[in-house]
Amino acid sequence: NVRVRFAPSPTGPLHIGGVRTALFNYLFAKKHNGEFILRIEDTDQNRYVEGAEQYIIDALNWCKMPFDEGPGKNEKFGPYRQSERKDLYKQYADKLIASGNAYYAFDIPEALDFHRKDHEAKGKTFIYNWHNRLKLSNSLSLSADDVKAKLDAGEDYVIRFKSPQDETLNLKDIIRGDIKIDTNILDDKVLFKSDGMPTYHLANIVDDHLMDITHVIRGEEWLPSLALHYQLYTAFGWKTPEFAHLPLILKPTGKGKLSKRDGDKLGFPVFPLEWKDPKTAEISRGYKEDGYFPEAMVNFLAFLGWNPGTEQEIFNLDELINAFELDRVNKSGARFDPDKTKWFNHHYMQEQDNDDLACALKEERHELYEIDTNYISMVIDLVKERATFVSDFWDLSHFFFKAPTSYDEKATKKAIKEGTADILNQVISIINDTKDFSSENLQTVVKGWITENEIAFGKVMMPLRLALVGALQGPDVFDIMFMIGKNETIKRIENIIK
Ligand code: GLU
Repeated sequence: NVRVRFAPSPTGPLHIGGVRTALFNYLFAKKHNGEFILRIEDTDQNRYVEGAEQYIIDALNWCKMPFDEGPGKNEKFGPYRQSERKDLYKQYADKLIASGNAYYAFDIPEALDFHRKDHEAKGKTFIYNWHNRLKLSNSLSLSADDVKAKLDAGEDYVIRFKSPQDETLNLKDIIRGDIKIDTNILDDKVLFKSDGMPTYHLANIVDDHLMDITHVIRGEEWLPSLALHYQLYTAFGWKTPEFAHLPLILKPTGKGKLSKRDGDKLGFPVFPLEWKDPKTAEISRGYKEDGYFPEAMVNFLAFLGWNPGTEQEIFNLDELINAFELDRVNKSGARFDPDKTKWFNHHYMQEQDNDDLACALKEERHELYEIDTNYISMVIDLVKERATFVSDFWDLSHFFFKAPTSYDEKATKKAIKEGTADILNQVISIINDTKDFSSENLQTVVKGWITENEIAFGKVMMPLRLALVGALQGPDVFDIMFMIGKNETIKRIENIIK
């Protein structure tokens, strides 16, 4: 039974990289009828940020990727916040000490600093491992009595993993294949601190084991930790889950990791939802508030590092679940393309319900409050094809709601010629006589008249459009006439020839 977890640290809003990790976990879980678990890794109290956990949950829900187990939900393996599991970890650190895989270290920061600088001065890098261990203050270099005395005296300590000398580790990653690591380059990572808190490494491995996690799918930035994690599983004698490290998300230029600053500079959000920093009160835009549909965001995120191996680009969540395979995820970084993101939104715009869009537009334009939602829906149907965001609608459709108050200058030059007034006056009288005011009939009547009188189409259609819209853009002229009605149509044509 597949069980995967998304394990963010609540240190701020989820970046799209985090949402992509959640998505790939979700897709993999659902594909295999497994469970998608949310675990909050909040052992580092210094970096804890108020509201971040709720943000993470809201973001997952907005994307329609609800977790199966997590804080407050189906707590079979709970609690799912590491701060609430605090008392559980020490025994595991003790086990590692007892088995000789870990040890107490009492080095004060100044001493470590001194060694670092001393090594640097000699052109070497200081690694806290077998090479230096015995020169330092820890339970491998001190007598058992000294160690006990230090612990009894309440001295600050850390528990470090004892990484072996001269061994080669064979690691496996579903996306990257086999990886060989020489243990001599590894340092003895801290697993536990005397404040009673485990570090990320210990808590993460213990919880993945206790929560029966079968596959660990996470960002590439955790690849350097894989060697330690493998060794911890071995040291505990536990079954190692399978690992998949997802590629980095790169800036639009393809150079370097995507950051919030890129979004700020180039005008696209990197957060799913708006985020108000509780410390600075600074607000960062989110995809949701910028008018993206969650379906569009999920679709474009899926393509950051994965592809189906076919030409198909549009996938809803169910289709993604069907098509998703971890071995179709790339190793190399995935370039983020804000234009492609818009392209997806434009696509999903076409699939939205017109009434929903009408309501959304009403929210944005208070002057539409009094207007019948059905009418707005019909307008939306006519202009939708050219809209990417709800915020595009007003520009595309204001003339359905009010007459133009000015005419585009260039368009006027192009459309209004000698004789235009005469032509438009005739159009008015034709329209006046037309009983069936459907756009089809209007088209038949007006175009029939044009052909019959051998007038150039542009000479009629351009000024007509200008009169109705104020510019030479917009949907079909006869659709506009039908929508605004006979009186308003005539009024607008009269206005332009006045
Ligand atoms: N807490 C880690 C993070 O913030 C989890 C890494 C992992 O998935 O192992 O990304």
